[in-house]
Amino acid sequence: MRGKHLWIYGYPVKTILPPPPEMLPADGHFGSGPSRIRPEQVRVLATASELGTSHRKPAVKSRVHGIREGLAELFSLPTGYEIAIGNGGATAFWSVAAASLVRSSTKNAVFGEFGGKCAADWQAADWIHVETVRADPGKLATVQDQVAQADVYAYPQNETSTGVQSPLYRGAPGDALTVVDATSIAGAVTVDWDLVDTYYFSPQKCLGSEGGLWLAVLSPAAIERVEEVAANRGSRFMPSFLNLSTALKQSRLDQTLNTPAIATLILLDEQVRWLLDQGGLAAAQAKASAGARAVSDWADQRDWARMFVEDPEHRSIVTSTVDLAPEVSADEIAKTLHEVGVHDIEGYRGLGRNQLRIASFPSVETEDIKALLNCVDFVASQMIIA
Ligand SMILES: *Cc1c(COP(=O)(O)O)cnc(C)c1O
Repeated sequence: MRGKHLWIYGYPVKTILPPPPEMLPADGHFGSGPSRIRPEQVRVLATASELGTSHRKPAVKSRVHGIREGLAELFSLPTGYEIAIGNGGATAFWSVAAASLVRSSTKNAVFGEFGGKCAADWQAADWIHVETVRADPGKLATVQDQVAQADVYAYPQNETSTGVQSPLYRGAPGDALTVVDATSIAGAVTVDWDLVDTYYFSPQKCLGSEGGLWLAVLSPAAIERVEEVAANRGSRFMPSFLNLSTALKQSRLDQTLNTPAIATLILLDEQVRWLLDQGGLAAAQAKASAGARAVSDWADQRDWARMFVEDPEHRSIVTSTVDLAPEVSADEIAKTLHEVGVHDIEGYRGLGRNQLRIASFPSVETEDIKALLNCVDFVASQMIIA
């Protein structure tokens, strides 16, 4: 039996031993956001003269330019599609969309925390009628109509809280907009731009930067809608912070409305260029898929582990969720591995399951995921045999 016993008040109490150093992954960051930032990105910060300078001057503007150009190339954006950037992360973009994209009605797919938060924020806007289509955690809900019943259709492409990935699809024909929360998968999957009008995300997930920004790819129809809403908003609440028309104008000038975190921009710019150097979205998608497959193959071979998302078609390629048998405590595994530099493998706290969640974002090496799984075996075996 591995593990050692401590004697407390005359009783043996088992403690769990962490894996030995030679078993550990080279890099222990497996969190679903903030996620692994490559050391090469961080090293650029040490000598970046843009830090501590004005975001209205050429040095920082050229970073914003690099991000917009780089993303346009990475995403192979068709002409007419534009990228807007603002402060506040994807959470802020829910309010931006409510103020600037929705006319009066939306249909939202809710199959986890993030889709739920977006729908709840929109429900709180008194000019929006929200209809939700819901699925239990671990399952997929879709919003798709033959004839439009709302002017915005919204769904997450990757529900980070459960590990369910949605296919991309258009909500309805005509001028209804399809607005996709791609926060945790943008940069790791190819996109068919015929299917989406707004594709928004934050930089601290696949894009391996820090939080605090939102980025949104806007189709010509979305840009038209933004200008229409800005012109006809009547008494609707529209502070400049939520005005997507203003954000778009600023972005065209390689600026943001107010001061951005310059380190975040530098890390993001570096990552976009690295993704392009690695072979773009197709290569990123192959790498993420290999990481997720390592996790599902591993779980399939253990009778104490099973993939939370039952339908393999709906399993995320970037966030794998694994339920563990009751005798194998996911929290205990996460805690034990945290002590030796393996971070953030516990499940989404709001889900409240005995679950591990492992990110396979493009910055995470598949070899490291395999080493992590060996480490999980090492810790779990002490609980099973005990
Ligand atoms: C992380 C996440 C968010 C929230 O992003 P913030 O940058 O923290 O606002 C929203 N949606 C999804 C799908 C996410 O994974």
